[in-house]
Amino acid sequence: MPAESKKFQSMQRADLHCHSNISDGVLEPADLARRASANGVELWALTDHDEVAGVAVARQVAQSLNLPFLAGVEISVTWAGRTLHVVGLGIDDAHPALLGGLAAIRQQRIDRAKGMGQRFNDLGYPGTYEGALRVAGNPGLISRTHFARHLVQTGQFSHMQAVFDQYLKDDGAAFVPTVWPTLEQALGWIHAASGVAVIAHPGRYRYTELQFDGLFTAFKDLGGEAIEVNTGSHNPWQFQTYADVAKHYGFLASTGSDFHGPKESRCDLGEVPFLHQDLTPVWHAPAIEARLV
Ligand code: AMP
Ligand code: MN
Ligand code: MN
Ligand code: MN
Repeated sequence: MPAESKKFQSMQRADLHCHSNISDGVLEPADLARRASANGVELWALTDHDEVAGVAVARQVAQSLNLPFLAGVEISVTWAGRTLHVVGLGIDDAHPALLGGLAAIRQQRIDRAKGMGQRFNDLGYPGTYEGALRVAGNPGLISRTHFARHLVQTGQFSHMQAVFDQYLKDDGAAFVPTVWPTLEQALGWIHAASGVAVIAHPGRYRYTELQFDGLFTAFKDLGGEAIEVNTGSHNPWQFQTYADVAKHYGFLASTGSDFHGPKESRCDLGEVPFLHQDLTPVWHAPAIEARLV
């Protein structure tokens, strides 16, 4: 380990998962950087869904605040018929293979969103696609979150969770499924871009125990390095479950708020409890240490 990176060994307040309005978050990348710094974050990554266009500004502002920063992305994957999110950390955000893969996913998102707009129209909510596009900070990255936000902002629903529960959940009446890239493709892009691959919020997937074992084994076989253990998307009891999983499979442990916005997220930047000391944090991965020195 290079001597310069020793300062990161004891670092605790890392936040390696959050969203700006380049994807489905509320704040601009520069504001997120300032908020992370103000909240005492010691290592920060911006991980927008399927897009890295916010990374340059995030990095610039983080550097001006002396906040160590990693370029990140949260890639949509389909595994065993369900959507899985894989975070890439410490990526080269200009790598052509990664950029090409993400651009194709964003086109899939647009096609899917048009279909969901049609479903909402048929369900008695006209203009929802156009409304979702209006609330999206980046019209090139449309998410279910934008549909929910539009329906709440226009007073048609009282809160976003109600939209998901009633219409947008995976078997909801307005949801249009799509087949995202494979785990192998996503890890291929992350590794081509010199990044580290992390299974995001494993506690959120409705896989069977057998499928989870198959997922962790396949991920490991493809060179996947880490899983999120402490995340704002987990209930506290799941921190222990996935700490055990990390140790069992030999994964590094990641941590992050999955912050989307001040009024929407139950966990603010830097607020996730620290990783347990018997886990090896993901910032000890050689690829990340190389970026931090
Ligand atoms: P998408 O990537 O377009 O399929 O949208 C997924 C995003 O919707 C996630 O990243 C979350 O931000 C949000 N989301 C998913 N499920 C829910 C839910 N039940 N309640 C609120 N937001 C959700
Ligand atoms: Mn999201
Ligand atoms: Mn996610
Ligand atoms: Mn996320």
